[in-house]
Amino acid sequence: MANILFIKNGLVVTAEKEFQADLLAVDGTITAIAPELEPPEGAEMIEAKGMLVIPGGVDVHTHLDLSVGQAHASDGWFFGGKAAAYGGTTTVVEHPGFGPAGCPLNYQLDLYRENAVESVIDYGLHGVFQHWNEEVKTAIPDIVGGGYPSFKVYMTYDGRLDDESFLAALKAVGDASGLTTVHAENHAIVSHLAEELKRTAPRKATSHPQSRPDYAEALAVETAIRLAEAAGDAPLYIVHLSTAGGLEAVRKARAAGRRVWAETCPQYLTLTDDCYEGNFDEALKFVMAPTPRKQKDVDAMWAGLMDGTISTVATDHCSFAWKDKKVRAWGNVFKCPGGIPGVETRLPLLYSEGVLKRGLSPSRWVDLVSTSPARLFGLEKKGRLEPGFDADIVIFNPGAEKSLTAENLHQAVDYTPFENITVRGWPEQVFIRGRKIVDGERFMGEPGQGRFIARQPFCP
Ligand SMILES: [Zn+2]
Repeated sequence: MANILFIKNGLVVTAEKEFQADLLAVDGTITAIAPELEPPEGAEMIEAKGMLVIPGGVDVHTHLDLSVGQAHASDGWFFGGKAAAYGGTTTVVEHPGFGPAGCPLNYQLDLYRENAVESVIDYGLHGVFQHWNEEVKTAIPDIVGGGYPSFKVYMTYDGRLDDESFLAALKAVGDASGLTTVHAENHAIVSHLAEELKRTAPRKATSHPQSRPDYAEALAVETAIRLAEAAGDAPLYIVHLSTAGGLEAVRKARAAGRRVWAETCPQYLTLTDDCYEGNFDEALKFVMAPTPRKQKDVDAMWAGLMDGTISTVATDHCSFAWKDKKVRAWGNVFKCPGGIPGVETRLPLLYSEGVLKRGLSPSRWVDLVSTSPARLFGLEKKGRLEPGFDADIVIFNPGAEKSLTAENLHQAVDYTPFENITVRGWPEQVFIRGRKIVDGERFMGEPGQGRFIARQPFCP
């Protein structure tokens, strides 16, 4: 028996347009989408009148399974994927953490693949560079060919690459039809400022943003763009862009026809560094890098979404529990594990704060959270509602209201940085490859239902 899904009367929103249509999917693949289709016999019928029908969200920046020292992200693949599904995200591309010193390029990928078998949603993995040598370089083409066409470089932290290695990596990845992504903060600035503040003001939460100023990002973004230029216009993707200065550099490069793309995250669209004022323990909830910035930066990020300078919205979801943050940061903000949960709240936040409050078009919303990330990261069957694509579908209720609290959400963590924001619009039903996994509050997914997606070489 074929598994047939028929979604009737919804307002279909794609990255290009909105139109009233019915949607038919057979055995997990979309086969037709048009007004007034005839439902085949035996179809599972879904009435979607008054609802938006959109492609499942694609979050290309998660850390569902991260360990840093002794701190471990609190959700893991099953609970992280479940929370993602409740929020309308059906595919993630995970950034693995660093492996043991000197490990080969495939080491973390193999390890993460083992743990990811319990995922309920589909997933891919980015490679990560933590050192650079001939062995790493020669491994790249096979790894791209194995379905991992994107790699991460850190310009700060212990696993960072220096400019020479970063340039070589950009060139090698570009030559192998891959995409280099970068965490852009200038290490000299961050470590210099942190050094001083660690001595003078470790008990002040504001020391955290003071040690990672906006110009540290802007300088690193400019450097990364120039290194990519020198590498023969190698493609470059800036993760979690947060500053007006960094955005300006991306805008200029794109205007000059350079192959540069940028991602931002809901936290840089909704929070400011006011979050570090006041109670120390409360402020630890917001310890992340980059840090939330000033209102002018928030406004710049929205402008970047509107004018196309920013191509994707991902989450950098990395949910260390608040209680762990408090224990580890006892009297010292620099010991707090950095990262926040957000995989569940991305689509609703961008709809509510963007579409309803800032005039972002519904199509642009879909493009930012699903279509463009799928295209840039080689998920060839994801991100579109078209015949031949996976039936990853979200029935989104534009009238639903929800206040964002830890209790109201499904992320396996004891807080949300978006507490006290009330959003309008929430996913009501979520399908992955034609199978319903979320129905209102009911979860119908099973561990292991998610599939590893071997992604295609970079071809935007
Ligand atoms: Zn990250």
